[in-house]
Amino acid sequence: MRDRWLACLLCIPSLLGAQQAQLASDAARAESTIVAAQFLSDIATLASDPFQGRAPGTRGEDSAVAFLERSFRRIGLKPGNPDGGYIQRVPLVGTTSRVDATAMFGGASQRLEQLTDIVAWSLRPDTIVTVRPSDMVFVGYGVKAPEYRWDDYKGVNVRGKVVVMLVGDPPIPDPRDSTRLDTTMFGGPAMTYYGRWTYKFETGAARGAAAVLLVHQTGPAGYPWTVVQSNAREKFEVAGGPQHVPVEGWIQLDVARRLFALGGHDFAALERAARTRAFRPVSLGGTASFTVRNAVRSVQSRNVVARLDGSDTKLKHEYVVLSAHWDGYGIGRAINGDSIYNGALDDASGAAWLLAEARAFKSLAVAPRRSLLFLAVTAEEAGLLGARWYGQHPLYPLSRTVANVNMDAMNPWGRTKGIVSLGYGRSSLEDVLAREAARDGRVVRADPEPEKGYFYRADHFEFARRGVPALSFLFPGTEYLDKPAGYEARVRGEYIARDYHKPFDEVKADWDTSGIVEDTRLLFRTTLSIAESAAWPVWR
Ligand SMILES: [Zn+2]
Repeated sequence: MRDRWLACLLCIPSLLGAQQAQLASDAARAESTIVAAQFLSDIATLASDPFQGRAPGTRGEDSAVAFLERSFRRIGLKPGNPDGGYIQRVPLVGTTSRVDATAMFGGASQRLEQLTDIVAWSLRPDTIVTVRPSDMVFVGYGVKAPEYRWDDYKGVNVRGKVVVMLVGDPPIPDPRDSTRLDTTMFGGPAMTYYGRWTYKFETGAARGAAAVLLVHQTGPAGYPWTVVQSNAREKFEVAGGPQHVPVEGWIQLDVARRLFALGGHDFAALERAARTRAFRPVSLGGTASFTVRNAVRSVQSRNVVARLDGSDTKLKHEYVVLSAHWDGYGIGRAINGDSIYNGALDDASGAAWLLAEARAFKSLAVAPRRSLLFLAVTAEEAGLLGARWYGQHPLYPLSRTVANVNMDAMNPWGRTKGIVSLGYGRSSLEDVLAREAARDGRVVRADPEPEKGYFYRADHFEFARRGVPALSFLFPGTEYLDKPAGYEARVRGEYIARDYHKPFDEVKADWDTSGIVEDTRLLFRTTLSIAESAAWPVWR
């Protein structure tokens, strides 16, 4: 009797071991179901012309939402909304602005042409928004950051003024090495929230400015003027959202230089002055006025959400949220005769990734211990609005939301050694990612372009700012394998210049999907590990 008891005690660990081995081999099998063909098919559907570029509040939205809901249902996932459906409604206000703008310097007036000289709009929900001739004031970077003892406004009242600002953070040279940026000031080369144009518009509104114009410079903005031009379309805000400054927009660099000169100022000299703590706002010696005619409509947009219940009776009440945005730029200004902004990489590829992960997880013999939520959000391109709405109206408490894993545009250019984690080093989730990456002989890398502020430009930010640790990816591949020197810079550069937020973001015959498959498998294992664990990831 005693012997049998002993034998049984010994047999429990080996039983557990066998169970572990079975789970591991099942996970490996599920991972291997992630293949390129299904990916390409889903991307091709979402990015096809009948989906009209998937703008919120259009037939393109209806098509995309229906496709995602149908796919989740076919995969066998439960409706993610506790109300029993796959939909979370996101009430938006859509505004299409027609803008007339005039600058007056030295008694001579000149029109500021929309698209060529400026790209401006109003997010006030009024049919006519008027800004009478108002003094133009240059406020440097428009930043007030006590932690860096930085204040571009110096208490100067800009109420009713047209404020002109530079994009990005103030770039402060390192006092020991002027070829570098001072890493103790703002993020050094990395953008902080102070560099985002949303921050600049928000602070302009808080100070009662009549208009905020950002001077466009390709380097600091991260994209050329043609991408700014794609902003001249219907814009969205969540219903009951914040009060905006009457007119927001961008001014083209050469136009800004010319206006500064007409007022007797040298743009380059003021830009230099703006990089010092001593900077004070400068009245430019001229005025600008705006008449904006708005077409305003209410839109009931939708997040699509599906759930895989956890297999552990206790841990199933904790959630890991996988997310990607389904929306794109819709139909806009035609370029080379094409007016459909298909958004194949941005972000049909992310939505296809979400479906690929959903299929792989659903195929597991035993679901992970924690529950998974698959969240396809709307209106990312309008300012992370669908993700923000979810953050403000979570379907499951954020206090029980363990982590967010977000994908915004995948890597269709081949296998890479590195996977780029936005906001590198911020949370312990990265340790899990690094461990799984190492199993593929890969490494986690910091964002090679931190100056572009991608950490603030993807949907995970709406989780991160509410305390939920997040992993997020945008063009995740770096250090291409078996490719010629200069390949990475070339393919990325070509995409940003030719495709990004343009009609040419389409499925390409020469895509190499091996990187997409590898990254998706890696994130499957990473998410599985997070969802199997009982540990809570932490911010660093
Ligand atoms: Zn995107």
